[in-house]
Amino acid sequence: MDDNWDPETLGVGGCTRCPELAGSRSQIVDGTGPADADLLFVGEAPGATEDERGEPFVGRSGDVLDDGLRAAGLARADVRITNCVRCRPPENRDPTGDERANCRGYLDAEIRAVDPELVVALGKVPAEHLLGRSVAVTAEAGDLDAVAVDGDRWPVLVCVHPAATLYDPGQRETFADAIERAAEYAGPGGQSTFDAFG
Ligand code: URA
Repeated sequence: MDDNWDPETLGVGGCTRCPELAGSRSQIVDGTGPADADLLFVGEAPGATEDERGEPFVGRSGDVLDDGLRAAGLARADVRITNCVRCRPPENRDPTGDERANCRGYLDAEIRAVDPELVVALGKVPAEHLLGRSVAVTAEAGDLDAVAVDGDRWPVLVCVHPAATLYDPGQRETFADAIERAAEYAGPGGQSTFDAFG
């Protein structure tokens, strides 16, 4: 990992690999939650509220995620939440392939350090980024695949992005079911009971 990565805080300091994002961000938005969480949720990139507050999923999508976690018997404090890209893309555009690649080492380092029982990909961008293939998120929601980091593998559960439930209420159940499945793997209070993935 490069000098910007702090293995103590699992945070990134002063990265300028993506000149456009480094020039427009208010701050880098690192992952939050326990450094040994059983569940690691991975979103796409910070939006305006996250850029302002320096925390992932604290805007409208975050409210949906919090509600989903609560309904499944989990609290935000039980899980770790991060993004593929740690700086807000201007106008909330999708992060480019170069931007995702520039940030990949930090995500991989976070996965390795947290060593979760389950990674939950929140939406198409993180699912495809982690799995390295195209993903039909609605059809695959609740399915398991795996992410490989330097030869080691972690199970990945595909989930629709929380924001999708705001645009399309028909996605609410799909979202809730996938979070429920993730919670089942983590067990009560985020405690892992998941050992089915080889
Ligand atoms: N959407 C994301 O994908 N990540 C965030 O942190 C907020 C919204």
